[in-house]
Parts: sequence; C-alpha cells; structure tokens
Amino acid sequence: MIKLDHFALLIAVAAIVALSLWPLKSHGEGDHEEDHGDAGDGHAAAHWSYDGADGPEHWGDLSPDYTACKAGRMQSPIDIAADATGLSVGISGNDYAYQETPLSILHNGHTVQLNYAPGSSMSVEGEKYDLLQFHFHAPSEHTVGGKHYPMEAHFVHQDSHGGLAVIGVMIEEGAANAALADAWAHLPAHETAAQMVADVSVNASAVLPADGRYYHYKGSLTTPPCSEGVRWFVLSEPISMSAAQIKKFEDTAAPNARPVQPLNARLLIGSN
Ligand SMILES: [Zn+2]
Repeated sequence: MIKLDHFALLIAVAAIVALSLWPLKSHGEGDHEEDHGDAGDGHAAAHWSYDGADGPEHWGDLSPDYTACKAGRMQSPIDIAADATGLSVGISGNDYAYQETPLSILHNGHTVQLNYAPGSSMSVEGEKYDLLQFHFHAPSEHTVGGKHYPMEAHFVHQDSHGGLAVIGVMIEEGAANAALADAWAHLPAHETAAQMVADVSVNASAVLPADGRYYHYKGSLTTPPCSEGVRWFVLSEPISMSAAQIKKFEDTAAPNARPVQPLNARLLIGSN
C-alpha cells in the first residue's frame, strides 16, 4: 500500500513536472522570430545568432527560409543619414491608442520582449495596426549619421491582413526610465518563456517620447527570416535610460543588433 502510494506520488510529480515544462517546450524556435512574434509555419527554424558562423553575415545561408536576409533589397535596419533632416514640424500622422497592459515578459534567446494584451493599436493613414509586443536591442540597430545609440526599442504592430508596422525608438543614456522601471525589476536574466507578473502593468504610451515625428521607410524584420514589407517609423526623439538600466539589459541580451543594410532604391521620408 505504501509502495503504491509512492508510485502514485511519483506519477503525480512526473505529471506536474511535465506540465510545468510544457510551456517551455511549446515556446519553440518559431517564437525566436522576435520582430514577427510567430513564424507560423510550424517547422523548426534554423538556429541563428549575432556572431560567428551563424551570425548576421551568414543568416541568408542558414536556411532556405532566410533567403531574404541575403537577397532582399529592402532590408532593415538602415543608417539614417545625418542630412536626412527633412522632418517638418508638427505632430506625426500616427495616432496611438495604447492601453495599460499586465506585465508579460520573456527572453527568447535573442532579446527581452514584453507582450501586449489585445486592445492597443495605432493607426497609420487610416489603417489600424494592433500592438503585439515591444522588445529591445543593444546597441541600437538603426544608426543616425553612422552613430549607434546604446539601445533601441521596437514596438511591433500588425494589421488585420498580417502586415507589420514597427515603431523604432532610440534610447540614450541619461535619466532612469520610470515607465520601464517595473519591467526592468523583472527583466529575465536567461532565456525563458513568458512570465505574467502579478499586479504589475506597463503602458507603452508612457514609454514613447513626447515628439511623435519620425523617419519612415519600407524595410524588413531585423532578425531571420528578414521578411520584407515592414513599415518602419523611427522616431527622431530618443528616450533615456540610466546607465544601470542599460547595463542590466546588456548583461542579459547584448549585443543583439543586426548591422545596417544598404538603402538601395528606397526613399527615407520624414513625417509631416
Ligand atoms: Zn527588433
């Protein structure tokens, strides 16, 4: 009888362990596409990284799915030339409707990402894009006049047809970022599935700078599969983080920036 109880206990423990592991297993390679959020095709994606044999120079050769990384002509990030100061004064055409969301934070092996609950969106020229998640790169991926910022945040949006629009926000070292303080207190140190943090919320609208003017161009995901057709809006005003906040991110995920890509025939347009 005691033996049976032990056996039952063992089964129960095994079941609990299996259940607790299940979300990690379901967090498959598809989720590694951090700009996209979901590769969607079900099969395991090839491993990639930010240096060495599976670094950015080789992404296009790692998998047939990643061909755009080397053959694409509209890739991201890009350098925003110092003389691309064609920004006119005034509020941008993008209309943000972001709500507070419960903190759901993950580390996908490439970046730290905060998932957004449904109900927050922005509109671009009348088209509604839902905010899916935002995440970070260090150093910045876009450069301005050839110069990196210490970090860059990407706010990833999707319209009802699957089209993507990303807001890029440069992060400079300065005052501590209060809007991200709670999230940073829960910053995962290692790769981990999304954790819901009880009683903590975050509001993307508090993270954005006051000045909504941007540089706009048509680009791509900055991670494999480097899919094109992404509408990029890189805000001209940076936000700040303290040196300690930047270092905390660097210690967990940096460097995680793809080098800038050729502009080719594209136009870089300032907001009006
Ligand atoms: Zn990104």
